[in-house]
Amino acid sequence: MDFSHVHLSDEDRTFRDELRNFLRTIVTDEVIRRDRETGENFDEGVHLALGARGYLAADFKPESEGGFSAVRRRIWELEIGRAHTPWFHWPTTMMVARTLAQFASRELLDDLLPQVLSGQVRLCLGYTEPEGGSDVATCKTRAVREADGSSWVINGSKMFTSNAHNAQYVFLITNTDPDAPKHQSLTMFLVPLDSPGVEIQPLRTVDGDRTNITYYSDVRVEDRYRVGEVNGGWTVLREALNAEHGTIERDDQGLQKLATMTEHMLLLAEALDRAAAVAGDDDAVRYRLGRAVARMEAAMSSPEMFGRVAIAQTMRDITPDLMDILGAAAALPVDTDGAADDGGFEYLFRLAVPTGIYGGTLEVFRNMIAQHVLGLGRPNYSPPAKRPA
Ligand SMILES: Cc1cc2nc3c(=O)[nH]c(=O)nc-3n(C[C@H](O)[C@H](O)[C@H](O)COP(=O)(O)OP(=O)(O)OC[C@H]3O[C@@H](n4cnc5c(N)ncnc54)[C@H](O)[C@@H]3O)c2cc1C
Repeated sequence: MDFSHVHLSDEDRTFRDELRNFLRTIVTDEVIRRDRETGENFDEGVHLALGARGYLAADFKPESEGGFSAVRRRIWELEIGRAHTPWFHWPTTMMVARTLAQFASRELLDDLLPQVLSGQVRLCLGYTEPEGGSDVATCKTRAVREADGSSWVINGSKMFTSNAHNAQYVFLITNTDPDAPKHQSLTMFLVPLDSPGVEIQPLRTVDGDRTNITYYSDVRVEDRYRVGEVNGGWTVLREALNAEHGTIERDDQGLQKLATMTEHMLLLAEALDRAAAVAGDDDAVRYRLGRAVARMEAAMSSPEMFGRVAIAQTMRDITPDLMDILGAAAALPVDTDGAADDGGFEYLFRLAVPTGIYGGTLEVFRNMIAQHVLGLGRPNYSPPAKRPA
């Protein structure tokens, strides 16, 4: 690992200062308060402002096409996190847009991409179903092609369609051949969310996040919204999941984010500093704070799937310990009289739970590491063999 400093050029410093100042003007206290109340991780005004300034386009494009350089991309990610920008809708939108660039028709991409980059169009993920999300290929939402072949009719439901209510399209995995083996039965669509027959119902999670259940009843979608081949949806989905899991190829400059969800570590680092400033000075407290910092640094330095697991597990392990150090008042939530750290740790404690669920649970990631990285073979879920009588 290379721990050397990155020296910023004058131009990069100016870029950082301008971005920091701009974020200060758009991510106001009011925006942060509203985001906390709604749990949406999204603010349309902020999103459109970043689009209008060209930041979203620069994040999406490679440097060779006018996108950020590696240094500026790193500055961008850090400043977005430091400003506590309501954020998660953009990485999701960008991930889907990149998959569309690979698999959608040229016509659909040309229609949508300018609006995605201006911030007007947002995209959300429709993978998980009420009967189970980890095995995403066992998809029951049905898409049936109409006789003239020009469109499809979709019926089914999806759990946790986060930000569907702020998005214009859902990247929807459907089953188009129930008799085929499951990985050959899927077809991906980009479904306009204003289509008749789409219903979005709100759902709040334990950390106060807002997500949704979405229902699709006889939703008619033109074939131009199909992404990839009929019954070739697994290939499309795999590509998108690799990006979500952080298993895509990295740049060779060592500046790229090591794993998904490192933003949460910035929040944890800030909270740890605040705890250290007020916690007592006895050896046991110092030891526990030191251990928390070491765990956090190790998680922040772990790449890809390892980082994904280490970040969520570290959050789950450290936050109760820190609440314990700060005492009973740390169990009070934000904006409650007498809450230690104004509820900052209580919030992170609750955030740690879904962080180990969305985008894949920790158990499933550990299995993937065991199977695909350590070569330990496929997990076997069959019942234990009977003992001989
Ligand atoms: C806040 C939040 C936002 C989300 N946003 C989205 C979104 O925008 N779009 C979307 O499509 N989905 C979204 N999800 C869904 C998320 O991806 C799923 O919750 C996750 O993949 C787990 O699926 P499940 O909830 O159906 O649990 P299940 O798959 O039913 O799993 C239940 C339990 O069994 C364990 N388990 C399952 N399979 C295995 C296995 N093979 N080996 C070992 N243990 C196993 C799991 O770890 C878990 O503990 C979101 C979830 C949350 C909490």
